[in-house]
Amino acid sequence: MKPAAFRYERPRDVAGVLDLLAEHGDEAKILAGGQSLVPMMNFRLARPEMIIDIGAVSGLDQVTRNGDHLTIGTRVRHVDLERPDFDGPLNSLLAVAARHVGHIPIRLRGTFGGSIAHADPAAEWCLLAQTLDADVAVASARGKRVIAAGDLFKSAFITSIDDDELLTEVRLPWLGPDWKTGFSEFSRRAGDFAVVAVASAIRLADGRIAEARIGAAGVGATAIRLTQAEAALAGQPLGPDAIDAASELASEEVDPRGDIHGSADYRRDLVQALTRRALS
Ligand SMILES: Cc1cc2nc3c(=O)[nH]c(=O)nc-3n(C[C@H](O)[C@H](O)[C@H](O)COP(=O)(O)OP(=O)(O)OC[C@H]3O[C@@H](n4cnc5c(N)ncnc54)[C@H](O)[C@@H]3O)c2cc1C
Repeated sequence: MKPAAFRYERPRDVAGVLDLLAEHGDEAKILAGGQSLVPMMNFRLARPEMIIDIGAVSGLDQVTRNGDHLTIGTRVRHVDLERPDFDGPLNSLLAVAARHVGHIPIRLRGTFGGSIAHADPAAEWCLLAQTLDADVAVASARGKRVIAAGDLFKSAFITSIDDDELLTEVRLPWLGPDWKTGFSEFSRRAGDFAVVAVASAIRLADGRIAEARIGAAGVGATAIRLTQAEAALAGQPLGPDAIDAASELASEEVDPRGDIHGSADYRRDLVQALTRRALS
């Protein structure tokens, strides 16, 4: 399959991207790693008249710690997060999740921001953004704004990023040494999208759970927070009893739909098993 004809631009800076987006709006598409957009164009599920390739735009490919945030530039590739250049619980969470994103050739080209903008309901980065309450920075010729992850993901493949906006960076809260993180995923074959994935981040104080964040992907149109399971953990010591109770609640609070990859009941069972593994 070949894509429909399109015009191609490769600006060198953000201002150039924003000018093109302002002029062409919904007729244009940003090309980042191309790992989702190009297949969609080849299948003619997307027919943009203009492609704006951001591969040469400088300043969007850094991972930096800014006080209480980790800032991930939109062009940071999946592979760059397999061995993050910093220590701590966020390191292990990103590293484990990164290795679940597709296969090595996809991770070498695909980008963090591209995955967030694409908003696949089973995507690992969308799950982490939702679980950790990420802030997503976007820019347009009209100005800049920051969208909380909870307001960003509207439905499967639909976000609140406007047609003339460029996602520039994603800010994750920095997790200090009192946090413990976990990630567990089930897919049919290595490299496939998750059937279900669960991410967790737990802050301990005096041996008890002071704060809990648990998210699940593959159970709806967007990744979701498992708020009942989170609430059940608050104030508990992090041990088998609390983990079992939270995992059971997690499976009860999701409302997945069945498809060719698994029935609704099967996905609910996966949520329980994967929540237990992530928390353990
Ligand atoms: C075989 C296969 C298996 C895969 N498995 C997985 C998997 O297990 N988990 C997973 O998460 N992903 C998986 N992917 C998808 C992969 O992670 C993509 O890299 C990712 O979804 C999109 O990132 P990209 O940089 O390639 O974006 P592109 O394909 O270039 O763009 C995707 C969409 O986002 C928009 N976009 C990109 N960047 C921006 C920006 N900065 N601002 C605004 N809009 C933007 C584009 O216009 C387009 O609509 C798989 C892909 C393939 C082909």
